[in-house]
Parts: sequence; structure tokens; C-alpha cells
Amino acid sequence: MKMTTNSLDQSQKIPSVNYHLWEPCNMRCKFCFATFQDVKRDMELPKGHLPEKECLSIVDRLAQAGFEKINFAGGEPTLCSWLPNLIKRAKERGMVTSIVTNGSKITNSWLDELNESLDWIALSIDTVDPEKLKRLGRALSGGKNPMTEEEYLGIIRTIKRRGVRLKINTVVTSETWQEDFTGFIKSAKPERWKLLQALPVKGQNDAHIANFEIALAQFEAYVQRNRIVENDGIIVVPESNEMMTESYVMIDPAGRFFDNAQGAHTYSSPILKDGIGKALKDVKVDLERFLKRGGQYDW
Ligand code: SF4
Repeated sequence: MKMTTNSLDQSQKIPSVNYHLWEPCNMRCKFCFATFQDVKRDMELPKGHLPEKECLSIVDRLAQAGFEKINFAGGEPTLCSWLPNLIKRAKERGMVTSIVTNGSKITNSWLDELNESLDWIALSIDTVDPEKLKRLGRALSGGKNPMTEEEYLGIIRTIKRRGVRLKINTVVTSETWQEDFTGFIKSAKPERWKLLQALPVKGQNDAHIANFEIALAQFEAYVQRNRIVENDGIIVVPESNEMMTESYVMIDPAGRFFDNAQGAHTYSSPILKDGIGKALKDVKVDLERFLKRGGQYDW
């Protein structure tokens, strides 16, 4: 594992960073903990993102600071027409590259544009039951038009044909915690399957999260029922609410680090104004917690 050279504190030794570069999304997941309406409002960022040039500078600075892996997230990052330029820049700077996406815009031609600079795709798939997807809002056309199981499997075939490594992220909610999702996951056969307990975050998902939250015991029951896919060589990575807290280095669409230590986002000063080292000191992230949630793996 490569560590940063200017390690000033624990958080700077964490080798991977999630860059939520973009607020817009074409789905309406009611549990979404990255809605960033506060950032749009408070930072006078009406489009929900910085200009491309500034985002490229942030990528440069992250690479310079020694981050080894960058994961572009949103909103839905593939709606950003210049996301491929950010991915290529990160790859040129020696970073392992990844995106988290709902999959709706992943096509052969989009992958062509990347010129093999994307290492990982994490597809967000919570269930393939269309009625549950509609109730969750994990659907297109304002949360009304869910993607089908066949569409998801088609996207997965496209990703694998290109040699991009596949991860699936599943948020476990009150709609799905009793499900056996192993049939779909065995067909999809990702390298890693991350299971996330639906996380309440003040200011991000207050309006609906109470309807979708589950208790730790319910989350653990889901993990227990579904982790049988490990027999097929799939690595299962469960993250309870507790494990998700203070264990990620994250950047918001205004180019600031943020943490979730207090059950809400706390934002740093802007990276482009104060630099990585100073801005990172404003947030609470812990290397041990990062390692405990399995943040370090063979990427
Ligand atoms: S697809 Fe992702 S970013 Fe968009 S609403 Fe759903 S969870 Fe949020």
C-alpha cells in the first residue's frame, strides 16, 4: 500500500478518496445520502458542480498528495459530459480509477471514450423487483420507471466485455431486508458485493429516510442470508451505519472534504483555496475505521 509522503494525521494516510463531483441525478432514491441540496444552496452552486477545469485541478492535487485510488460519485457522475476527462487525468497521474453509478448511462460508446483508463465500476443495484424499486425511487423518469433485471444484466455484460472490474453496491432498506438476492448476484458475479445499511444523514435524506431505515439486527439478517454467494468467489463487504461513519475520505461538489461523524455532513474549507493538507484537517476520518470496513483491498 502506498502511503502519502506528507502524512500529517491519520486521515491523510487513507489511500482512497470518494469524489462526489456532481449533484445532478436521473433517479430519485428516497434514502439517498448524497443529495447535496445544502451545498447548492450554501455555496451558490446552482448547477450543483464546479467547472471542469477546477475539478481537474482537484484531481491533480489529490494525486500529488499521494491518494492511490479515486472513486468518482455524485449524484450520478455519468451525466457529467466531462467525467471521462477526469478519469483519464486521474489515470495519467497514476491513480486507480473507479466510479459509482446507477448504470443507466453505461454503454459501449461511453466506455469507448475512456480509452481503457477506468479500472472499476460500482453499480448501485438494491433489488430487481420493479414495485420495490418504484417505492424506493430508484428509477428513472422522476422515480417512476425502474430498470429491469435484463437491463442490469446487459450493462454488466458490457462492463465485463471491456475488462472493467465490477463491484455491486446494495443499500439494504425496509423494502428489501427480507430478500434473498443471491440468484441475481450469482448471475451478475461481481468481484465484490458491498452491502450498506440505509444511513440517515441530517440535511440529506430527512424527508423520507424514516420509512426506509432498518435496525442493525435486520441488516445482519440480510447479510447472513445472502453471504452464501461467497461460495461462488464473490467477496461480500457489509457496512453497518456504524462502519460507514468516519471511515471515508469524501469530497463534495463544491470541492471540499466532508465527514459524517455527527450524523450530518461537516464540510472543510475549499481544497483549491487552502490545499489538501489544511482542508483535510477540518474533517474527522479515521484510518483504523477505514481498514476495519475493508477499505483496503487488492485494487
Ligand atoms: S442513483 Fe445514487 S445519487 Fe442518484 S438518487 Fe439514487 S442513491 Fe442518490
